[in-house]
Amino acid sequence: MAEQTLGIIKPDAVKKRVIGKIITRIEEEGFDIVRMKMLHLTKEEAEGFYAVHKDKPFYAGLTDFMSSGKIIVMLLERDNAINHWRKVMGVTDPAMADSGTIRHSYGFSIERNAVHGSDAPKTAEWEIKYFFKK
Ligand code: ADP
Ligand code: MG
Repeated sequence: MAEQTLGIIKPDAVKKRVIGKIITRIEEEGFDIVRMKMLHLTKEEAEGFYAVHKDKPFYAGLTDFMSSGKIIVMLLERDNAINHWRKVMGVTDPAMADSGTIRHSYGFSIERNAVHGSDAPKTAEWEIKYFFKK
């Protein structure tokens, strides 16, 4: 059954000029790109999106980074979209990510890790609304 998730190409990957490579991979993995837009988040918008992490030591750095340049936000759809996109991205730290994953290929550090993906149905719904259905 088709499921939706939110994907983001983060500022490090946009600056690295690998938007095209990442989108090609998304299409090859069988996702439909239902909606897509390029944005430059304000610090406040980045803080809102990552509010779940507001007590983490990396929150300030993360929200500075996410508002430091343009991002691509995508509503992705396929069966098992949430878990499949997480698998294609790889784990949070690119140094630990399996070869062939996007974070292994294009991530720079545990913070600057190229892409975002929702982690569960509830968060996917909330994140999709945050960018597309407000
Ligand atoms: P994921 O994006 O894999 O779901 P988290 O939800 O735990 O990971 O964290 C959100 C984002 O915060 C990560 O993608 C990464 O950009 C950043 N981050 C996570 N952990 C750290 C850390 N220890 N130091 C710096 N940044 C981090
Ligand atoms: Mg997460």
